[in-house]
Amino acid sequence: MSHTGSSGIQPGPQRTTDLATPLSEPTRAYAELVAGNRRFVDGAPRHPNQDAGHRAAVADGQHPFAVIVGCSDSRLAAEIIFDRGLGDLFVVRTAGHTAGPEVLGSVEYAVTVLGTPLVVVLGHDSCGAVQAARESAATGTAPSGHLRAVVDAVLPSLRRAASEGVDDIDGIVDIHIAQTVETLLGQSPVLADSVARGRCAVVGVSYRLAAGAVRPVAAVPADLATLETPAGSPESTDPAAAAAV
Ligand SMILES: [Zn+2]
Repeated sequence: MSHTGSSGIQPGPQRTTDLATPLSEPTRAYAELVAGNRRFVDGAPRHPNQDAGHRAAVADGQHPFAVIVGCSDSRLAAEIIFDRGLGDLFVVRTAGHTAGPEVLGSVEYAVTVLGTPLVVVLGHDSCGAVQAARESAATGTAPSGHLRAVVDAVLPSLRRAASEGVDDIDGIVDIHIAQTVETLLGQSPVLADSVARGRCAVVGVSYRLAAGAVRPVAAVPADLATLETPAGSPESTDPAAAAAV
């Protein structure tokens, strides 16, 4: 018995309705990042787009496929942990991935001028900015200088965590990542419009410093982050489980 049709050309194995649906640009971009993070986790990076030839090729223009709004933490270098190179990622980093006007403007530039189809909020476990905000809230003292702006920007996430009964640092980090996703969409009508039109998506991921893997925390649209996450993502990071300890 043969399933080979008389036309001779088969579309591919196990073709289903879902597989036949072309992936959207945001979904393809997210899948590319997940694949790169998997290579990094596995210790098998390819270091794509880092050679002199590519450097020359992208000198006349950039078309990054993702915006990264990440924490400034020195262990969170976007091109390294996602195994990408020049021209791939439009990176905006602040301590605690706070999203003030300049950050919002940078995101809007990438999405509207460069046509970047994906915005990623990149947080991580043991985030110092979140810890500083928690200490500030606990002691009732504000840090000096401009550090106060960072702490003030994180405090809404701490209040949200308290209202949800989450008090472990990594559970609070997850909430802060989700809060940052909501802030970007709430504060930038341009970004929200791009997402509503299906041209862009926003996903928040949490990075584990030791394991090197990212784990989706929040996404708009929500089905974006249902893609497989890299091997090595620990299951012990569930904030509810951690808070119960
Ligand atoms: Zn951090």
